[in-house]
Amino acid sequence: MTHPYTDTRTNLIGLTRDELVAKLAEIGEKPFRAKQIWHWLYHQGVTDIAAMSSLSKTLHAKMEQHFYIGRLEVARHLTSEDGSQKWLFRLEDGSEVETVLIPDEGRGALCISSQVGCSLNCDFCNTGTQNIVRNLTPAEIIGQLLAARDSQGEWPSGVDGRLLTNIVMMGMGEPLMNFDNVKKALLIIKDGEGIAISKRRITLSTSGVVPMMARCGDEIEVDLAVSLHAARDELRDVLVPINKKYPLDQLLTACAAYPGARNARRITMEYVMIKDVNDSPDDARLLAKLMHQYQIPAKFNLIPFNPWPGTRYETSSNNAVHRFSRILNDLGYSAPIRQPRGRDIMAACGQLKSDSENLKLKALAAKRAKPDPAPLPV
Ligand code: SAH
Ligand code: SF4
Repeated sequence: MTHPYTDTRTNLIGLTRDELVAKLAEIGEKPFRAKQIWHWLYHQGVTDIAAMSSLSKTLHAKMEQHFYIGRLEVARHLTSEDGSQKWLFRLEDGSEVETVLIPDEGRGALCISSQVGCSLNCDFCNTGTQNIVRNLTPAEIIGQLLAARDSQGEWPSGVDGRLLTNIVMMGMGEPLMNFDNVKKALLIIKDGEGIAISKRRITLSTSGVVPMMARCGDEIEVDLAVSLHAARDELRDVLVPINKKYPLDQLLTACAAYPGARNARRITMEYVMIKDVNDSPDDARLLAKLMHQYQIPAKFNLIPFNPWPGTRYETSSNNAVHRFSRILNDLGYSAPIRQPRGRDIMAACGQLKSDSENLKLKALAAKRAKPDPAPLPV
């Protein structure tokens, strides 16, 4: 077998149904084969064409000339004391991405990356300190899920009691800046003949790429999480700079109009709690007021800031986080506090970065004079 990264044949993973039908047509095979092949790829999880036992040996041989089944190369796989797991994948071009599995009473969420690095440079985010390297392909996005399933032995899919039940697009990168590939991957993940994870169990997190939000709701149809982090434009401009392009009014209007946003499918407002920056009782009240004013069916997710080397921010005190949560609760909004998981393996979803990347970055930062950070509004 040749190495998947140097293989010149077509990777079967990540092709949409239509793309697969077209590829099969090129070798004289009928469209119904696509359904059979998807079953083997995404339901049975086979990694070898010859294992597709409902297809003839002649067809195996023919397919093997043109196709292969790609798997990501696992550079590292770590398991935390609390049961969460992290994979570091090495991609074809040598770049690395991370994926985290966070188990929780009878379910488990896989936090998937959408880009290598991120172009949006949020001030408090470790990924944002990396320049964008590139978008992940559909095969690389789905590949993270397939590799996690492989390592948990969770094939065939669809059996109860599995660890990997939910998907959150909250790893490295901004999924709505890689819309086409994320869409292709999520449509395969959702498809009943693909990986068949229900759309109710998939959440996509965006920092607020407003023009793509409606398309996300219409074309991908998954739950939405928004990285809000500030209730005022002056502050959000600094924390989440894309706010300068799409300010709160546009973002919240898009949230209110998000297809499918109704009480049963509330939008999750992620709010990273940063000491003395965005954690005052006034901030909490302003948030509730905004949700009310824009009539957004919202729930909050309070994330204690996860510090990283070189950041100018600190985590809010326990007291401040609990007070914030209580105020939102009293004003009618659910606002659970996300427990830090996998600290020992640096697996916090939403601030993924490999140690090796960190070291490279430190070296780079030392070489490069840093511009003064934007001042924080008081
Ligand atoms: N780019 C997307 C998805 C990835 S980030 C987005 O920004 O929504 C996933 C979540 O983790 C976001 O809410 C992000 O703001 C948050 N996050 C990033 N760095 C963090 C840190 N150091 N501590 C806590 N949360 C962080
Ligand atoms: Fe990118 Fe999200 Fe990090 Fe912002 S928070 S830099 S959008 S990954």
